[in-house]
Amino acid sequence: GMAADVAWAERWVRETARSIAANKEELTELDRQIGDGDHGENMNRGFTAVVAKLDALPEPPAHVSDVLKLVATTLMSTVGGAAGPLYGTAFLRAAKVADLPELDGRGVVAVLEGALEGVQARGKATVGEKTMVDALSPAVQAAVQAADGGGDARAVFAAAAEAAQKGAEGTIPLLATKGRASYLGERSIGHQDPGATSTALILAAGVVASEP
Ligand code: ADP
Ligand code: MG
Ligand code: MG
Repeated sequence: GMAADVAWAERWVRETARSIAANKEELTELDRQIGDGDHGENMNRGFTAVVAKLDALPEPPAHVSDVLKLVATTLMSTVGGAAGPLYGTAFLRAAKVADLPELDGRGVVAVLEGALEGVQARGKATVGEKTMVDALSPAVQAAVQAADGGGDARAVFAAAAEAAQKGAEGTIPLLATKGRASYLGERSIGHQDPGATSTALILAAGVVASEP
């Protein structure tokens, strides 16, 4: 089966940057409904900086974990707002468990679990609070199932991405109780969470990076 190596990690990050840029307006519009309308800008600034740093490396990154660490530190210093530290911590935890030449299905599960732990350690949100946790948590569950069924890295990532997309859509009826959207109270109901939406985009980019 397909294993996720450093070349895959670099494709994932570059495809994420492309997808975030292409969906910048959508993310910003979602954040205008229940936040301060900067999520698209924030994420695009961050991933543009990530690509610039990758391009400027004197040698290609050696390990998956090097790529994920570069993403973590860059997002922490460039994204700002709530999402910067949350995604930064997610990629940092993911990097710690990705200290292997390549990831099989179980390895992908470990990376996604690490990311979820990072987001929750930093933001203290649980499922159902209308945050990126509502995309990432079902993604981890689906990834575990796919790996239990013998799925390779590509199959596990595909299962995770599909669950994240459903999870993001599932934030629409939720009441926000964390982050800026919680200030709206009941008026947060009926809108899709921008952070859950960007999480789904990030995971979908990993599937594109896994295509043969
Ligand atoms: P800000 O709200 O500071 O402008 P962004 O607009 O970049 O930051 O990001 C907003 C997103 O951050 C939300 O849509 C939500 O998904 C996520 N978020 C906010 N607070 C938390 C939290 N405590 N835990 C998890 N995710 C959160
Ligand atoms: Mg915002
Ligand atoms: Mg903001």
